[in-house]
Amino acid sequence: ASSGHETFHVSVLGSGGVGKSALTLRFVKDYFVRDWDPTIEDAYRKTLEVQDQLCMLEILDTAGQDDFESLRAQWMMDKDGYIFVYAMDSRTSLHELQPFFELHLQINETKRNLPPIILVANKKDLVEQDPAKRQVTSEDGRRVAASYNAVYMETSALTGSNVNAIFEQFVIEARKKRQPT
Ligand code: GDP
Ligand code: MG
Repeated sequence: ASSGHETFHVSVLGSGGVGKSALTLRFVKDYFVRDWDPTIEDAYRKTLEVQDQLCMLEILDTAGQDDFESLRAQWMMDKDGYIFVYAMDSRTSLHELQPFFELHLQINETKRNLPPIILVANKKDLVEQDPAKRQVTSEDGRRVAASYNAVYMETSALTGSNVNAIFEQFVIEARKKRQPT
């Protein structure tokens, strides 16, 4: 344990506009970006302490033409797990996670332990402020999470609610799944 921390690689995946960048930047820099360029794809690193142990998270905030399957596969290859994001005011954004899930099964087919998925229902503040905007109930979100064998979490990148918790939970799940080397 002399040569630095354990490192986990995670991709943040989901349709455009669900808040992938807002969640990532809230976590990494602790501020809310209202108008982040939707085409920017970038990787960020953050050291964090989970279960009394430091680790390094390397986070890929994905962006772009997610209808290209080859690009999706690149985003998902060689990762310790995934953060799947949809927005509670968009049912479509929940359905659009399905291809990522199918690709996950394909890409990780030969692994002894499947990398973990955290299913994030974002924009909680929005549907709390205006319930008419809600298109996905918590129950529906939980059901999809169960079918993905994922942990379900509700967040707001705007208020910061539960944002650190996603990444901490990710580390907990990734530690459980990591194969002994
Ligand atoms: P991405 O395309 O998935 O990276 O989405 P962005 O992070 O760029 O966010 C898309 C839009 O949704 C931006 O206008 C954000 O300000 C807004 N947004 C993101 N997360 C939240 C949230 O939790 N609450 C609210 N109210 N707006 C959000
Ligand atoms: Mg983005």
